[in-house]
Amino acid sequence: MDETRDTIAAVSTPPGRGGIAVIRISGPLSWSVSDRVFSPRDGKPLSVHPPRTAVYGDIIGEDGVIDDGIALLFRAPASYTGEDIAEISCHGGVLLTQLVLEAVFAAGARPAGPGEFTKRAFLGGKLGLTKAESVIDLIDAESRGQIALASAQSRGVLSGRISDLYGRMKRLAASIAVMSDYPDEDMSDIDADGVKKALSDIMSSLEELAGTYRTGRSVREGIAACICGRPNVGKSSLMNALAGEDRAIVTPLAGTTRDVISEKLMIGRCAVRISDTAGIRDTSDEIEKLGVERAESEMMKSELIIAVFDGSSALTDDDMRFIGGIRSAVSADPSKKIAAVINKSDLPQKIGADELSHLLPEADIVRASAGSGDVSQLTSLIDGRFTDLSLDLTSDAVLSNARQYAAVKRASEDIKNALSSVEAGFSPDIAQIDIENAMADIAEVDGLAVSTDVVSDIFSRFCVGK
Ligand code: GDP
Repeated sequence: MDETRDTIAAVSTPPGRGGIAVIRISGPLSWSVSDRVFSPRDGKPLSVHPPRTAVYGDIIGEDGVIDDGIALLFRAPASYTGEDIAEISCHGGVLLTQLVLEAVFAAGARPAGPGEFTKRAFLGGKLGLTKAESVIDLIDAESRGQIALASAQSRGVLSGRISDLYGRMKRLAASIAVMSDYPDEDMSDIDADGVKKALSDIMSSLEELAGTYRTGRSVREGIAACICGRPNVGKSSLMNALAGEDRAIVTPLAGTTRDVISEKLMIGRCAVRISDTAGIRDTSDEIEKLGVERAESEMMKSELIIAVFDGSSALTDDDMRFIGGIRSAVSADPSKKIAAVINKSDLPQKIGADELSHLLPEADIVRASAGSGDVSQLTSLIDGRFTDLSLDLTSDAVLSNARQYAAVKRASEDIKNALSSVEAGFSPDIAQIDIENAMADIAEVDGLAVSTDVVSDIFSRFCVGK
């Protein structure tokens, strides 16, 4: 049977005990399946009740009544998937829900795969790919910023921007076509200079949109950071201050953090996967040595190095060794960002910002008092470096994953090629093919013309029942 034409069912509420569980059935047989397992108390078959009306009744399994509950029907195409849907709510027991689901399978539905309901909604034209992706992002969201981003995307903010760009390219392509079909007549609404201007405007819009990915990625996916420094400068205290609770052990003895502790924190709008590493110093203790090596490898892997110094004491040899380590990490990857934190700002200060900036010209320098929880300068610094503070996540179009970003970047490259050939004096119809490629690229963002592999990959990240 055609994969999208059979009838699928799954529990759509989270696994485990709960007040209620919802079993969702979608496909051509969903109403007849629900008629077999659900017997309304008013004595009439469920399917004669009007759609979108809650109907109370008994849920019937192989051995008779399993539970009582509520059923709700949706008539295609006015449903989440665009197909006929039945939703049966029962009491949320683990075994009970399983029995109801088994009754639904026995009545003719098959188990739904991960994300299969949403995949059907996409294939049925109920929602574009960016909206489908926003569904999983909403479910997975762990911060307000992530919810704002996914919610804007689910309301069509990004797909609106994409279709606007697509429309501009299409109008330009049409004008160029008229121009080249009737070269001697004044038929087209555009001349060669107009084509150049339109292409360069479209390219700026594409680049501006591509630029939002820096923010989308930091909010949605997060950035990898590490907290480094010689022992006892306040790394664990800083981690705790950022986390808002005690997660790493803080002691006045040097060298107690011997492993890497990892946390996911929200710093401003950024999701930061942060590791608090062993203090970096020249050491003979074998175990500590291993920790130091791991700290150095964390620095290599991190996009953001939070380098901590104890402001209450002058820079030591260990600090200088550490600074050398940071500089080699930055020269290996110049895109790394360095936040140098002069900690213990509550005590008399022996390190000057200028002195540190001279030694670490790549770093942004802030002061903090991790012990008393004052890390606000660091928080603002990170937020400003990794997100565009002028973007409003609830209302601006923001690219939030690598797939979307890659498509927009490809479109931008195509338009750049088109512009170069027009600027080199070729006739604008030479640019047509590049414009058409850019249109195909941008259309991919919302899932027009994406390959089935890409679609399968996206929906495989969903949970069963969504
Ligand atoms: P780590 O070895 O770098 O992880 O340092 P810890 O976080 O364990 O802190 C070492 C010592 O410095 C502890 O006694 C902390 O209480 C103290 N400390 C940390 N941050 C501050 C601060 O901002 N001000 C003051 N006065 N003491 C701090």
